[in-house]
Amino acid sequence: MVSNTEKRRNKQEYSLDRIRTLAKQGAVSFMSSRVTRCVMNNQTLTCPVCEEGRLTESTFADDFKHGKKTLHIDGLECYLCNNCGADPVFPEQIRRNHLSIADSKRVEDDLLTGAKIKEIRNQLGLSQSDAARIFGGGDNAFSKYERGDVIQSKAMDKLLRLTAKHQVNLLELCSFAGMPVKHTNIGR
Ligand SMILES: [Zn+2]
Repeated sequence: MVSNTEKRRNKQEYSLDRIRTLAKQGAVSFMSSRVTRCVMNNQTLTCPVCEEGRLTESTFADDFKHGKKTLHIDGLECYLCNNCGADPVFPEQIRRNHLSIADSKRVEDDLLTGAKIKEIRNQLGLSQSDAARIFGGGDNAFSKYERGDVIQSKAMDKLLRLTAKHQVNLLELCSFAGMPVKHTNIGR
């Protein structure tokens, strides 16, 4: 005789295990703290709240404080249950939302967006770690800027714009960093 608690636990463990497998296959990402359990059948996400409804992708808008201003940001991602109306946000969506919010703040402050920083870095032919060695900001600076985890300083922003416009300056910056120029796209 299996107790109800045990059944629930087994079901939950099965579900989480299944989710981990699906996550490895790239089919679904890990749940956020707002969602503890979710079952996927034939590409259909079942609602973790009512366990009956089907989740479909949806968007929402929210207001965010930025200095003295309030930014209204639309198009943030979530799921919506067609049965109970729950609106869980999954980790991949949280990451993308996080970047959208950081980019809105950067646009407001006339700073480069994460995508634009990546574009400049690629134009210069630099890996994220080479870019950090050359421009500074710490080891993981560029992955943080590009993901929107950290907003670059105005000084860093200007340095990136200047180097993108006058790529020859990269030679000097490489020399400051004691790096061979072969790390870059200069002269190719
Ligand atoms: Zn539901």
